[in-house]
Amino acid sequence: MLELWTADWVHLGDGPRPHAGLVTDGRTVLATGEAGELARRYPSARRVRKGRYLGLPLANAHTHLDLGIAPTFSGPFPDFVRYVIDRAERRGRAEAVQAARYAPQRLLGDIAAREEVVDWWLEEGPASGVVYWEVLGLVPPEREAEVLRATRERIERWKRRERRDGPRVGLSPHAPYSLTPGLMRGVVALARELEVPLQIHAAESPGERAYFLRREGELAAFFRARGWPLDLHPTGLSPIAYLAELGVLDARPTLVHGVQVDEADVRLLAEHGVVVVSCPRSNVGLEAGLAPYHLYADAGVPLALGTDSRASAPSLDVREELDFLAARGLDYPRLLDWAVQGGRRALGLAPARIETGSEVEQVEFW
Ligand SMILES: [Zn+2]
Repeated sequence: MLELWTADWVHLGDGPRPHAGLVTDGRTVLATGEAGELARRYPSARRVRKGRYLGLPLANAHTHLDLGIAPTFSGPFPDFVRYVIDRAERRGRAEAVQAARYAPQRLLGDIAAREEVVDWWLEEGPASGVVYWEVLGLVPPEREAEVLRATRERIERWKRRERRDGPRVGLSPHAPYSLTPGLMRGVVALARELEVPLQIHAAESPGERAYFLRREGELAAFFRARGWPLDLHPTGLSPIAYLAELGVLDARPTLVHGVQVDEADVRLLAEHGVVVVSCPRSNVGLEAGLAPYHLYADAGVPLALGTDSRASAPSLDVREELDFLAARGLDYPRLLDWAVQGGRRALGLAPARIETGSEVEQVEFW
């Protein structure tokens, strides 16, 4: 029994199209193309409208499953940092397993801060993509080597356990302000040497930008309140310019957020071929604002979408990020492409296609 599948938007690899479809025998894809043409070629095929979307899977390119599904925080960024630090002790495998049930996408970029969560991903995690081991620390220079040694040992051990259809292991130096320059450089060098993907949070809040440029604002106050030294990072550079100067952008990390950027920052990201993962509901909830999508489009910076954690987003479903941005006037098919091919690019995967001979199991619809 043949079926001709269609939907409002069909993305088979060349971008979302409204009048496309595919013919299947239930196991493989027999033909793809314009729906009217397929109906003429396969007159016996039963027409099945699959809903709003049919095609390649969407990726949630940035989340933290081990932060669980705790109540979502909204408010200023420094208060959020305190909220996450308070919760960090409770992170673990149970939280990640529970959150995975609420994460509909099966192509994920997940940042893990507990070893047992990476172990779970490699043994039985129900998704592919990348699980990034998070590293952060404003440690004295003499301790950097020790952190890097432990990180190397973990990544080498985990890399040997990657499954064919499971996630790859990656590294995430948390953010420009939460690692010393030496440790940041070391983690990035390690990722390059071990050939693992990198993901980093940067240019998220206005406070992060003000801290780097002038040692002012909420993040500088947060450092002062905790008694942390204020001379760990250079001043007078934006967070993106700092990462460029340190050589971090040469390693082409996936950059999460990219909200508080100017044209010079965007140019740097474009020159280095960096993919930006935008998490708009989290950014608005934490009063960081919305990323300047028009600047990224003009500069040709590829975009992907992520939910971030349930600590700052109301769900782990990236489709709700699309709806959120579409309601603010962005073009829905373009957003779909960010989530599909942009997401693959952010996770270091080659562009995909659904074509004659593809297994129908690879086709997503909703
Ligand atoms: Zn995050």
